[in-house]
Amino acid sequence: MAAPQTPPEKMMFQLALRRRGISDRAVLRAMEEVPREAFVEKGDAAHAYRDSALGIECGQTISQPFVVAYMTEQLGLQKHHRVLEIGTGSGYQAAILSKLCREVVSIERYRTLADGARKRLKTLGYDNVEVILGDGFEPPENLGTFDRIIVTAAMEKIPETLLERLEPDGVLIAPVGPHHGIQTLIRVSRTETGFDRKELVDVRFVPALPGIAREL
Ligand code: SAH
Repeated sequence: MAAPQTPPEKMMFQLALRRRGISDRAVLRAMEEVPREAFVEKGDAAHAYRDSALGIECGQTISQPFVVAYMTEQLGLQKHHRVLEIGTGSGYQAAILSKLCREVVSIERYRTLADGARKRLKTLGYDNVEVILGDGFEPPENLGTFDRIIVTAAMEKIPETLLERLEPDGVLIAPVGPHHGIQTLIRVSRTETGFDRKELVDVRFVPALPGIAREL
């Protein structure tokens, strides 16, 4: 039997990621395997493989594929890692992460988004992702510590409450900067003596806001 053909838009999608510098094969494979069309609004399915952010419920966005791939690559994931994501949104980034590590815990402040993403991830079979309604600035103590932390909403500064949750040799990536402007992706690595901080690229994310959203 002939292998199922990759649709042209998915081939272009892979090509665009490679051209922009994504080279980690496991990351490229995860980007190929996760169906982005299942995470965007119904009316946007035709645009799912364009390299752009798209609107989702609650006035939030599903990130641009290149940024998802880039942040994932920069995390340097290993199969045994436990990963914390702040800002579940559609659940797309969580699905990508789940293919590359042992367990993903993702926190979202909108109930509508958390419930939607949880259901979507379960239907698609991403069984190692737990979606929690909560405030990513204050992750529940009982979640413990993480090998990797990825923040997918803009923070004015990286809170101590998150750095404290990194395992030794842990890595955190977050967009840091003004809420409505250009932010810089920052990669923080936990070392024996403290934290190393590196600036990566400029990005634009929706703001990280404190507390669980009062709106649904
Ligand atoms: N990673 C998502 C996109 C995230 S958009 C995806 O793949 O689709 C940023 C998300 O962060 C929004 O859904 C927003 O509601 C959420 N968010 C903002 N501040 C937060 C906080 N303090 N805790 C948890 N989630 C937060």
